[in-house]
Amino acid sequence: MKVFVEYIWIDGAKPTAMVRSKTRVIEIISDSITLEQIPDWGFDGSSTNQAEGHSSDCILKPVRFVADPIRGGANILALCEVYDSKGNVHPSNTRAVLRNVLDAGASKQEAIFGFEQEYTLFSRDDYPLGWPENGYPGPQGPYYCGIGTARTAGRDLVEAHAQACLDADLLLFGTNAEVMLGQWEFQIGYRGFKEDIDALMITDHHWIALWLLYRLAEEFDVKISRENKPMKGDWNGAGCHTNFSTKAMRDASAGKKEIEDILKRLEANHDRHIAVYGAKLAERLTGDHETCAITEFRYGESDRGASIRIPVTTAKDGYGYLEDRRPGANIDPYVVAARLLVTIGDMDEALFEKQSNKELVNVISK
Ligand code: ADP
Ligand code: MN
Ligand code: MN
Ligand code: MN
Repeated sequence: MKVFVEYIWIDGAKPTAMVRSKTRVIEIISDSITLEQIPDWGFDGSSTNQAEGHSSDCILKPVRFVADPIRGGANILALCEVYDSKGNVHPSNTRAVLRNVLDAGASKQEAIFGFEQEYTLFSRDDYPLGWPENGYPGPQGPYYCGIGTARTAGRDLVEAHAQACLDADLLLFGTNAEVMLGQWEFQIGYRGFKEDIDALMITDHHWIALWLLYRLAEEFDVKISRENKPMKGDWNGAGCHTNFSTKAMRDASAGKKEIEDILKRLEANHDRHIAVYGAKLAERLTGDHETCAITEFRYGESDRGASIRIPVTTAKDGYGYLEDRRPGANIDPYVVAARLLVTIGDMDEALFEKQSNKELVNVISK
């Protein structure tokens, strides 16, 4: 049987990486397809900010595949890591950073994540979907989880995307309309089911879900923005709240002390986190619009103006998960997961520093 494989990878765009993909036909001889049957492939890195023109070949190594919900049938989407022509991990390959952190001991934490990816829809002419071509919609209020004409914009794409995530068997938690008209959210990660999930699977699924969003947006002639503050002024920015828990945090007896210790470590490492939580984060973390100012670190029960929210269930039970509200919509989930694991596990900073994307760095001016 011959099938289409869509090879998906993350490019070298700075400061915010983007997904790329290309198509290849492969022949499947056995009944079911395995990762080993999907061959490595290459691409021209000089066109993706991943190589110089004179030695431009980069290598694509498939690392996870799912059913292709757009082409259907036996066709698949294959997420890849990028290697250079000598076979070394490419500097843009942030998945390798997360892998290394996990291999260096973090996998023992059995951390699970839930990413709330917000994004904004724009028309081809660059105004937010549902906004008048000149001027503004009514003030924020009716749009968050809103229903009804003129209260929502772009639901047809949101529904198509959610269905595609389900058809690809991604770890989709849910979706909702956001506070600003034309802004939406999908969540990927822990769902409370009995399913075997880990940090790599969740972050891989997050990137595949992003690819599906950009790809399906073509069908609706809509642009996706992951900018932190797409509309200046009294409009909410777009973030990527990152919920996380470790085995110890979820433990009924050890959880309370563990969470207290982790909150202290998060406070001590605030600047290191901000540095890799998305480009132009200061525009979003102003202290208004359900954010905590970028220069401050605060945690609080059910507090949506804090850096870290302690969800009501965690506060009540004394154990469970935390929500890091700082990450912006333009984060790389591999980088955020790796950063959190290093802080939570009090691991060697060199593990993270060595390979993280240095050009992403936000500097906090105090
Ligand atoms: P919010 O109220 O902040 O908008 P959402 O309902 O959008 O929250 O998303 C909840 C998120 O919390 C989901 O991404 C889910 O995966 C995550 N989550 C729930 N429980 C846990 C847990 N124990 N560990 C990690 N993440 C969790
Ligand atoms: Mn949410
Ligand atoms: Mn949200
Ligand atoms: Mn949230």
